[in-house]
Amino acid sequence: MKVYNTMTHKKEEFKSINKNRIKMFVCGPTVYDKSHIGHGRTYIAFDVIARYLKYKGYSVFYLQNITDIDDKIIKRANEIGVEPLKLAKEFEELYFHDMELLNVNNVNFYARAIEHLDEIINQIQTLIDKKFAYETSTGVYFDESRFEDFGKLSNRNIEDLNVHRVNPDKTKRNHGDFALWKKRDDGPSWDSPWGPGRPGWHIEDTAITETYFGGQFDIHGGGLDLIFPHHEAEIAQMESATGKKPMVKYWLHTGFLNVSGEKMSKSLGNFITIKELLEEYDPQVFRFFVLSTHYRSPIDFSDESLQQSQNSLKRIHKLMETIDGILKADIAENHEADEKYFKILENTKEEFLDAMDNDFNTPIALSVLFNFIRDINKGINEGKIPKNMFKEIKELFNEFGDILGLNFSVESRNNDLTEELLNILIDVRKKLRENKNYELADEIRSMLRDAGIHLEDK
Ligand code: AMP
Repeated sequence: MKVYNTMTHKKEEFKSINKNRIKMFVCGPTVYDKSHIGHGRTYIAFDVIARYLKYKGYSVFYLQNITDIDDKIIKRANEIGVEPLKLAKEFEELYFHDMELLNVNNVNFYARAIEHLDEIINQIQTLIDKKFAYETSTGVYFDESRFEDFGKLSNRNIEDLNVHRVNPDKTKRNHGDFALWKKRDDGPSWDSPWGPGRPGWHIEDTAITETYFGGQFDIHGGGLDLIFPHHEAEIAQMESATGKKPMVKYWLHTGFLNVSGEKMSKSLGNFITIKELLEEYDPQVFRFFVLSTHYRSPIDFSDESLQQSQNSLKRIHKLMETIDGILKADIAENHEADEKYFKILENTKEEFLDAMDNDFNTPIALSVLFNFIRDINKGINEGKIPKNMFKEIKELFNEFGDILGLNFSVESRNNDLTEELLNILIDVRKKLRENKNYELADEIRSMLRDAGIHLEDK
């Protein structure tokens, strides 16, 4: 299996640090607003990466942080007059809910910054003790000039960085020195050896990864925008604090989801929230749309592309329905059956996995799948598919569906639909009761009971 490593700018053979165990960290969201579909793109991509690594037999520990202390959170909370920590908690819950809807469910542990303040303070203290950091009247800063590898991920030269950047804080040693601890009282603050304040953004992540992974781990992911300064700062902090290099074996970055060529972002205000999108499209359609482009390439968001994804998914579901029908009908073997279809199935599996082995190339994997669909549809029309192959085709689709987090099977789609419809009925009944229309509410309950569903008001 090969993965593209941002650090070396090339595809490398993937070899985990510890036999079959993988430690994977992906930067989580800063919870100051609803998640938009750009976030969805990045987290779906890493969800598929985690799924595929598990499929390959690795035991994956996928860790994500939640940035719940940040200037942006405090600013937003002040604007709308709520407690910053309360605001963060609310958006964190919405984030989890959105991820669940998108079938992004492979993160083993979400680590909140505010629950790791001791670890953050300890890591800052280590950096001070090792003379990589220093205290000023405004905070504690990382001394960029002390870390000679600074810029190695983003390919930047430290002198250039220092020359071009403005230094608003004259107490700092270098322009590029970044805050590990901010002595601020304009928001939530915590005690520290340097007085009350709050941590800087970059240190949250390395304190968390050091806690759970130690100083070195296999995969670090995030969107392209995080390479500089965030990931560069993470490397400087972790490698200086632990003395171990490299902090990360493979750096993986996702391309942006753009609208009219511009990155979708909270700060640009050009975003469509996941919730808004899912009012119009099935989450599976969005997932399919995301996976139709390679994770490192930009994706342009458009309704037409989503429609196309919807149609493609329909083609798969239609074939699955046909196959289910054939399996149920228990047809007799066709004497025209052609054994070559077994070879086609075998090749399809091989080509699909080859594509995934090649830096998780989902668009190629999907095109392999659609070539297969074309062949099978033709075979069915001509009555040439051997009878005992239908079950295998179905199993293959389920296997691919699990890797991609897409639901190809018709039964489970029906189950999802039943649950959705049931929830709608329960909601309608609740509203009827709120409006004191008990008669109709009871009638619904009794009809549900007749259908074998017992509803209790507690
Ligand atoms: P944030 O909450 O802005 O820190 O973003 C959380 C994650 O989503 C980061 O890995 C970002 O790189 C990623 N992200 C934000 N906007 C986009 C976008 N338009 N396309 C793809 N990924 C994005």
